[in-house]
Amino acid sequence: MPVSCTTNCGRKAILRRPKTGTSLCKECFFDAFETEVHHTITSGKLFFPGQVVAIGASGGKDSTVLAYVMKFLNDKYDYKLNLMLLSIDEGITGYRDDSLNTVKENKNDYQLPLKILSYQDLYGWTMDRVVEEVGKKNNCTFCGVFRRQALERGAVMMGASCIATGHNADDIAETVLMNIMRGDVARLGRCCAAITSSDGALPRVKPLKFCYEKEIVMYAYFRKLKYFSTECVYAPNAYRGHARNFLKELERIRPSVIMDIIHSGENLVFQTGIKTPQQGTCSSCGHVSSQELCQACTLLLSLNEGKAKQGVSKKSHKIRST
Ligand code: SF4
Repeated sequence: MPVSCTTNCGRKAILRRPKTGTSLCKECFFDAFETEVHHTITSGKLFFPGQVVAIGASGGKDSTVLAYVMKFLNDKYDYKLNLMLLSIDEGITGYRDDSLNTVKENKNDYQLPLKILSYQDLYGWTMDRVVEEVGKKNNCTFCGVFRRQALERGAVMMGASCIATGHNADDIAETVLMNIMRGDVARLGRCCAAITSSDGALPRVKPLKFCYEKEIVMYAYFRKLKYFSTECVYAPNAYRGHARNFLKELERIRPSVIMDIIHSGENLVFQTGIKTPQQGTCSSCGHVSSQELCQACTLLLSLNEGKAKQGVSKKSHKIRST
């Protein structure tokens, strides 16, 4: 027998929310999802009127939903934000070239300006060539460091004062677990924040921080959003994969575990006096760095000198892609 929507709207429920277990019709699910993102934005004071926001757009489900919902809420609540899409082309044949086509469709559908920056133009290397050089073990370290800086550079070029990313609740809970397993206290202390910033770098903002991945997929499906769902051909990232599998196992037993882990991460109290690195600027590219050479320039140098394969394993305990 069909179940009624639990909001008493009179419609039949067509889904059960993974986050709350409530049965909802499509319209009430949209409303609940969008209202929660709106609440994350307003309660966390994530943006201010007139702000230029670069939305990191990969063409995947998270960033597609982020772009759609940000545009929708900006219109509905008159946030007065100037939204733009920013995509990074890592140079991964058969993956990024296809996903960028999806971003270009989103640009037209949502009527948002789009900027695409490539690793080839910024660094003189594509990820295809990096993988040829370093193999498939440490490639994500290069890719993550390069992307982080590329987003920063692109956002500055666009005149943006922050970068909105599609990190969802599952990503954040995984990161909490990973930082605990690595003993990375500095990252543990900041990974749950909806806005993260370091001196001189643009703030990174996570409006989907409390959205479950399963609900993002549902939202994209019922809204009929166009996104690219193929995984990167170079996606080993074994450590995050273990944290993800562990989290999925826990979620099967107790769906609230994702929110519980984020809540725990937010409420951890850290010893005072833990030294954090002093921020300066990279002597080579001028971007924010706590070392004389930033991570991107260090990795680039090792590639250009043909030492990337030997160098990264020694450095990888310091340079992490996540
Ligand atoms: Fe880059 Fe690794 Fe992600 Fe592929 S899986 S896009 S190589 S970080």
